[in-house]
Amino acid sequence: MVAKHLRGRDITDERVLAAMERVPREVFVPDDLRRRAYADAALPIGSGQTISQPYMVARICEELGLDGDERVLDVGTGSGYQAAVLAELGAEVHSIERIPELAEQARRNLLAAGAHTVTVHVGDGSRGLPEHAPFDAIAVAAAAPELPQGLYDQLTQGGRLVVPIGARSDQRLEVIVRRTEGAAVLRSVPCRFVPLLGEGGFEA
Ligand code: SAM
Repeated sequence: MVAKHLRGRDITDERVLAAMERVPREVFVPDDLRRRAYADAALPIGSGQTISQPYMVARICEELGLDGDERVLDVGTGSGYQAAVLAELGAEVHSIERIPELAEQARRNLLAAGAHTVTVHVGDGSRGLPEHAPFDAIAVAAAAPELPQGLYDQLTQGGRLVVPIGARSDQRLEVIVRRTEGAAVLRSVPCRFVPLLGEGGFEA
């Protein structure tokens, strides 16, 4: 997966590639889909949701530019896979999921994968996680109609937010930095994610 779908495309950050090599994706997919765990595809995980495509997980991690000492917020825990990869790259990871059953399954998956520095919360992640803010980096794995202001406000100065923004059907993955003069968009690439539902997202 790493050689073909990540290094073979445009993922170049060696820390990200090594993290993706270390995290066993098969732990995060349902038993009957394990043979497809290393395909570059999103796969169903129940409750109408999906585990993100490995390329998108790598792309988001690379855009966050983590050094290893950051506090990170992961919005849309899903299976917990992205959170596990972030835990390999940052110091402390908080992950938030709105569907309690998925959050519970993700906790089990993370335990099985040995990702002990991730705390999974249940709630509306489009509002961020004020009690644990500020964050040096925020990864959002669901699409918002516009920049979720609550998330931006919970970034440290110089902190990065990676979030798909656009319509329910297709979006652009925006890389946003918090600067004293305001939000700066570093990059924006086409993508397709499930909707972020809640106060800072689409109507549920
Ligand atoms: N990154 C995850 C992984 O690696 O398995 C997959 C994320 S999945 C594409 C998007 C997730 O965002 C879904 O589990 C969905 O329930 C969740 N979600 C949608 N709106 C949310 C919100 N407001 N707060 C928290 N989670 C939300």
